[in-house]
Amino acid sequence: MSGTEPAPAGGREPAPAAPPVTVRALVARGVGAELRIERVRLPAPGPGEVRVTIRAAGVCHSDLSMVNGTIAARFPLVLGHEATGVVAEAGPGSRLRVGTEVVLNWAPACRACWWCRNGEPWLCADTTAPTMPRGETDDGTPLHLTLGLGALAEAVVVPETAVIPIPAGLPSERAALLGCAVLTGVGAVHHTARVAPGQSVAVIGLGGVGLAVLSAARRAGATTILAVDVAEAKRELALAAGATDFLLSDDRLSKEARARTESRGVDHAFECVGRATTIRAAWRLTRRGGTVTVVGMGAKDDMVSLGALDIFHSARTLRSSVYGSSDPDREVPVLAAELADGVLDLGVLVSGTVPLDEAPTAFDRLARGEGARWVVTLD
Ligand SMILES: [Zn+2]
Ligand SMILES: [Zn+2]
Repeated sequence: MSGTEPAPAGGREPAPAAPPVTVRALVARGVGAELRIERVRLPAPGPGEVRVTIRAAGVCHSDLSMVNGTIAARFPLVLGHEATGVVAEAGPGSRLRVGTEVVLNWAPACRACWWCRNGEPWLCADTTAPTMPRGETDDGTPLHLTLGLGALAEAVVVPETAVIPIPAGLPSERAALLGCAVLTGVGAVHHTARVAPGQSVAVIGLGGVGLAVLSAARRAGATTILAVDVAEAKRELALAAGATDFLLSDDRLSKEARARTESRGVDHAFECVGRATTIRAAWRLTRRGGTVTVVGMGAKDDMVSLGALDIFHSARTLRSSVYGSSDPDREVPVLAAELADGVLDLGVLVSGTVPLDEAPTAFDRLARGEGARWVVTLD
């Protein structure tokens, strides 16, 4: 494969632009529109960019939120931002070699802004917008990519800062999840909330991220782990992921949680839905002095209402966890090594795999709240 060598430095004429790459991708044409597999044209990798052949990509709730209008997006849009693949072509000056197995990173850090220099690269001022213009559809319409990636496609062309090398040979349907659900869930427990052994935890919303939070809480040594969802069907998944109890999200929730925590409420509640009602539910089942960590990404106009006296008297902390308060360049290789060693078992997270042609059905299942993570496999 050409293009792996850095371009010669010095005052030569730039080489003529390489032709675009045509790939099949899952495209949303608008809010509520039927999802379709379309042929799209991506630019060839430029300086410091790489083309990655996708092997597996997870269907994350944030993708669904763009399709159903919860998160503002621009269309036509290639969905997907949680994936693993192989570097197929490296643009001029790229340090990556063709054949390197990688996980995609939807928040590549600039390493130069105030937040990056302050040790908070997940808050980088250069953070990718929800949708980024790049490439075009087969009929020549300008295309947008989810979180700068558009990973539910045969290939992506991205800055090399948006890929993280991982050991070769990991099961791709599991490795894909390291880039969003697992990094977010594990990071929320270890870096944001800092759950300690013996503490009590509640997790509201048992999708891919919520289940990743559950198993991370278990590994962190939490002894009471309450899994909460509106769907009774999540009970078995929750217990398999490490929950000690499953509770239905109804008006008895607070009481049920207190009954399992000596009437206090939990030390840590994780809200993995992104809704005002579940953030309030998380707040209510947390003990005085406890912490509510919001992991779900909600809508701009969904307002959370809390009483001023309640805020003071409860002495609770309410905070959010963006990308698990993690530096993906540092954390993903650690998680990948744990996956390789079998320390990190993601089996319960993967509900099933579908080929790209059936990716729309994975969105239907996610919208119905079925299973944990549905993964689109491309090899
Ligand atoms: Zn995601
Ligand atoms: Zn930065």
